Amino acid sequence: MTAMRAALLRGFERPFTVEDVELLDLAPTRVLVRTKAAPFCSTDVTSFHGRLGKVPPTILGHAATGEVVEVGELVRGIEVGQRVVVPGTPECGHCFYCGIGRPDQCSELFDLGGVYPDVATTSDGLVVNAAGCVGGYAELMNVSQNQVFGVDTDLPWEVLSLLGCGITTGVGAVLNVARVQPDDVVAVVGAGHLGLWAIQAARLAGARDVVAVDPTEERRGVAMKVGATQAVTPEDALAAVRGVTEGRGADKVIEAAGPPSAQRLALEISRRAGTVVLSGLKDAAGEVTFPQIPLAIHGRQILSTQNGNVRMRRDLAAYVRLLERGALDPTPIITSTYRLDDINTALERSEQLEDLSGVLVF
Ligand SMILES: [Zn+2]
Ligand SMILES: [Zn+2]
Repeated sequence: MTAMRAALLRGFERPFTVEDVELLDLAPTRVLVRTKAAPFCSTDVTSFHGRLGKVPPTILGHAATGEVVEVGELVRGIEVGQRVVVPGTPECGHCFYCGIGRPDQCSELFDLGGVYPDVATTSDGLVVNAAGCVGGYAELMNVSQNQVFGVDTDLPWEVLSLLGCGITTGVGAVLNVARVQPDDVVAVVGAGHLGLWAIQAARLAGARDVVAVDPTEERRGVAMKVGATQAVTPEDALAAVRGVTEGRGADKVIEAAGPPSAQRLALEISRRAGTVVLSGLKDAAGEVTFPQIPLAIHGRQILSTQNGNVRMRRDLAAYVRLLERGALDPTPIITSTYRLDDINTALERSEQLEDLSGVLVF
């Protein structure tokens, strides 16, 4: 039996408790990864409040990075000692969705019926699962071989940790889903840990103008630093995009905020026959409504994305190279690092929007 320290969510809206737990034995197709960094994601704030169907006691943290310490006997292609990214989504390679090139919907995650794998037991005899099949807020992660991707780079751990959620979602939304073209006018609704990556990707793809939309002045400031050509409040968004498109509206809009009002706004500031990509989520029970004319008559394409529709085996190495040569810049986005013992501070600061990406480091 292997012991480790883990931050447990023993009940919704109860502070995390950092405890010693005993890991269950490693199954033949699974990999044990020593966690080096895991971002505290806004999705985990939602999970903390019980709005995403997690079942306590659980270890949150749906994306992380680390070093392989043990591989099951049937695991192939992953070596002990390797640096790996453990993203929010597996890629089994043989389910229906992997077969159609959409591993962002891989059955290994989405057809579990919300029952995540058990990975450890507590000193008082409870069995603990790994939320999202990752459980990154712990010293060790017991994960499927299909959710472990080797990287060959010297990038710092805290930067690598963002490749499993923020970077893949924000960059993938722009390059894989909206397919931003040179000279496009792009609007990004929400300048948080997804939107700031989307802004950078839009500039990389050659967008002429990138209009960042966020109610928070500080976040608008960061948006300008990472490549937005304008940063405006939601109230000013329509006028801003019309001002640079002869009144039409944005060619492509990336929504990276979550509230239904942000998703509505994304539609409103797009042009006729434009493309809107929705990526935010605030509440599993949330609903959004859209007016019919802009959809039915004006030919807009409303798309959505989970984890940027990335294919890790294709996109990961490219994103690593973009980070290595500074074409993607994590510096203004990683606003804090925390030790595991300070996870409740990370939660609080994420909830208060005081961090863009606060990263737990081990
Ligand atoms: Zn996330
Ligand atoms: Zn699959």
